[in-house]
Amino acid sequence: MKSSITRREMLQTLGAGALAAPLLLSSGQSLASDALPQLDLNDPLAKALGYVHDTTKADAVKYKQHKPEQLCVNCKLVQGEAKEWMPCQLFPGKAVHMNGWCVGYVVKA
Ligand code: SF4
Repeated sequence: MKSSITRREMLQTLGAGALAAPLLLSSGQSLASDALPQLDLNDPLAKALGYVHDTTKADAVKYKQHKPEQLCVNCKLVQGEAKEWMPCQLFPGKAVHMNGWCVGYVVKA
């Protein structure tokens, strides 16, 4: 009696699944980063690093290295495509504002 699914059919099915899995994961990760909560200015790490949602509000007395053209959107540590709120490597699980700034700023090369 012949099996209802041939070895070739099974391999084709597994191959298609292997190709689809990363696409599904990628799409899920994208949705997850879109849903990240905004970084709270009262977050202890945000306060420790002088994070502000608007770079013009950075403490220029305390952070002498700050320059007005330094924005989260052009920082090397921000992740993903440019949009209003983006993930940042320094604040996992939170989104920073594109016009924000913190002392961890590193210019994109
Ligand atoms: Fe913004 Fe860069 Fe600081 Fe992250 S490390 S909050 S992207 S300035």
